[in-house]
Amino acid sequence: MLNIRGATLVNGKQCNIVIKDRYIQEVTDDAVRGGDVISVPEGVFVSPGWIDLHTHAFPKFEPYCAHPDTIGYKSGVTTVVDAGSCGADDIADLYELAQDCKTNVLSFLNISRIGLKVLNELADLSTISPEKIYESFQKYPDLLVGLKARMSGSVIGDNGLAPLHMARSCATTLHKPVMVHIGSAPPKLRDILEVLEKGDIVTHCFNEKDGNNMFMDEPMLRDALQNAIERGVYLDVGHGTSSFSFRTAQRAKQENIPFQTISTDIYERNRVHGPVYDMATTLNKFLALGYSLEDVISRVTEKPAQVLNQPQLGSLEEGSVADLTFFKVEHTPVDLIDSLGNNLHGSVQIKPYAVVLGGEYIECNTSYELKKSH
Ligand SMILES: [Zn+2]
Repeated sequence: MLNIRGATLVNGKQCNIVIKDRYIQEVTDDAVRGGDVISVPEGVFVSPGWIDLHTHAFPKFEPYCAHPDTIGYKSGVTTVVDAGSCGADDIADLYELAQDCKTNVLSFLNISRIGLKVLNELADLSTISPEKIYESFQKYPDLLVGLKARMSGSVIGDNGLAPLHMARSCATTLHKPVMVHIGSAPPKLRDILEVLEKGDIVTHCFNEKDGNNMFMDEPMLRDALQNAIERGVYLDVGHGTSSFSFRTAQRAKQENIPFQTISTDIYERNRVHGPVYDMATTLNKFLALGYSLEDVISRVTEKPAQVLNQPQLGSLEEGSVADLTFFKVEHTPVDLIDSLGNNLHGSVQIKPYAVVLGGEYIECNTSYELKKSH
């Protein structure tokens, strides 16, 4: 048994969290005796473990790759979701890697069997094999959460919406969502949105790319976006090297466009050299944009759990998986940068320093230590 004593939740409430056999047994005001005790100092927050819905966690495919534990628990993230690095040809390798990681790994399978081995993986429709896709989902039901289709001009060649229609058809058979990457047209964002169904995900939602962002001057686009949101299509940030604009995010906030999840689209280069760096930095950007701490944390915990249809994650309810993230919120100025090189000044910084994963307490890359006793 592991006993987290004096945890402050993002709503300000203080409690004790009791973990048994990798699951949350109880969240209580009462003192609980026994087991290992982690005493949480004042001012330290505890949330359900963070979930990063869009990462590249498959080290084999350079340059769009990173090790799951580097972008995972060492950065305060307890679940990384690989967003289509692998197709059916390599998913066995990702599964093997996931077995050796502390961080939970989930994956959206690239509908192209070759995945990100090339950067135009949907230019040749013969690489989309429904049989291979179904076979992968049969073999790895705990790893695969949906399909990924990168629908931008440079990826699909002359194929128009065909790859997306094929993805949607496979997703219907599998009863899984499609995560769609939006980038430069063609195809037009409006046409992409019209194919999507309840539970599907649009990633890179706050990009500012020419001719394909949500605020460009395109007849019917706003209607298509509104209809998609009303149908239950989710919007995901997917920051990435070139897909996150403060201007787009600010305008979306002014216009109350709902988005579900904050994710990084992290891989080695944008982790080391920016503009992503890590999940905490991405969360700091949303605090600087004026979202509350509760709002921001829900978009890396309960919201992605809902999008992934994994209700045992992202929650402190009794019986949930006992993944937790411990972090401080420091009131220190910070200069933040988006994918276009624009600056935004923040005054608050989230700093993760420990997680509980599978019932085990593990420190992140930090010198800060909690008081631990038996
Ligand atoms: Zn990506």
